[in-house]
Amino acid sequence: MIPFNKLVCDDIEPVRRVMESGEFILGENVSSFEREFAEYLGAGYCIGVASGTDAITLALMALGIRGEVIVPAFTAYPTIIGVLRAGARPVPVDVLASDGTLDWSQVKIGVHTEAIIPVHLYGNRCQINVDAIIRPRIIEDCAQYAGRGYVGDVAAHSFYPTKNLGACGDGGAVVTNNFNVAETVKYNRNYGQIVKHFYQEVGLNSRLDELQAAILRVKLKRLDEQNSRRREIAEIYRRKIDLPIMNQTDSLYHLFVIRHPDRTRLRQRLHEKGVETSVHYPYAVHKQRAYKMKGEYPVAEMLAREVLSLPMYPTLKNEEAEYIADMVNQCV
Ligand SMILES: *Cc1c(COP(=O)(O)O)cnc(C)c1O
Repeated sequence: MIPFNKLVCDDIEPVRRVMESGEFILGENVSSFEREFAEYLGAGYCIGVASGTDAITLALMALGIRGEVIVPAFTAYPTIIGVLRAGARPVPVDVLASDGTLDWSQVKIGVHTEAIIPVHLYGNRCQINVDAIIRPRIIEDCAQYAGRGYVGDVAAHSFYPTKNLGACGDGGAVVTNNFNVAETVKYNRNYGQIVKHFYQEVGLNSRLDELQAAILRVKLKRLDEQNSRRREIAEIYRRKIDLPIMNQTDSLYHLFVIRHPDRTRLRQRLHEKGVETSVHYPYAVHKQRAYKMKGEYPVAEMLAREVLSLPMYPTLKNEEAEYIADMVNQCV
């Protein structure tokens, strides 16, 4: 059986050091990781927070956004939760069938539009239409794109264990070049406390902890190497698989996603061949009752029916990737 994902954390030395230091919250590892990740991305500031969802909420809070926020109709559901928790209103726009990212040709900026959240889905870079940046703020959802080249006001990152840069628990970061945004996120992740005992705003308890930061510092050193391994696996899939592929050719391959009209059957047959797969995501966001959204988003709905994610992780072997690709062709 080839599992859909395999998570490993083999280096326990940094964990031991944190345990011995007795410093668990907002210590040396968090500030060092923030510096190192900002440097890696070529960004001005990085603030470690508790999750990618919180990173979106804290970014919107720091920009003072409580009005309409354009979001893709096809994304991981926490994109929407991050907006709603900030007290803002997500307005879906359909996505491109080619790579699942926001279709900018359908973005209509109205007087109530305060921000746009492009999502770099599957590790695919979402195009950002620079003309549209004149008024609304751009908050990039980089949860599936732990990479360089950020261009908006703020980027929200996630270190959920399965992400390209994954911790051994939850974690996230807000990345920005804007000093004021960085300072605001810094106190709002810590209850809104500006200096000890003084509260500037009603903030969150949303800190990256020292254990996760220590682990992330080690993992960051291996990120480039692991991303190239993902690319090698993708090359094997690309060479062999005859179905439409959702990844851009320079994707960071957080996920490797194909499309097929009878996904359920293909998935079942792959399971019978010992290949576990997954679906990201089976419903467009406006279909979730919790979010109370209306409208029709035909591309999002088509993708929700057809996408299928194949195993994609650095420890997947070449032989396994070859086998998976052969089985996909055989099972369609
Ligand atoms: C994972 C993910 C999130 C949420 O990150 P968490 O750390 O799990 O809160 C948000 N958006 C996208 C696109 C994601 O993939």
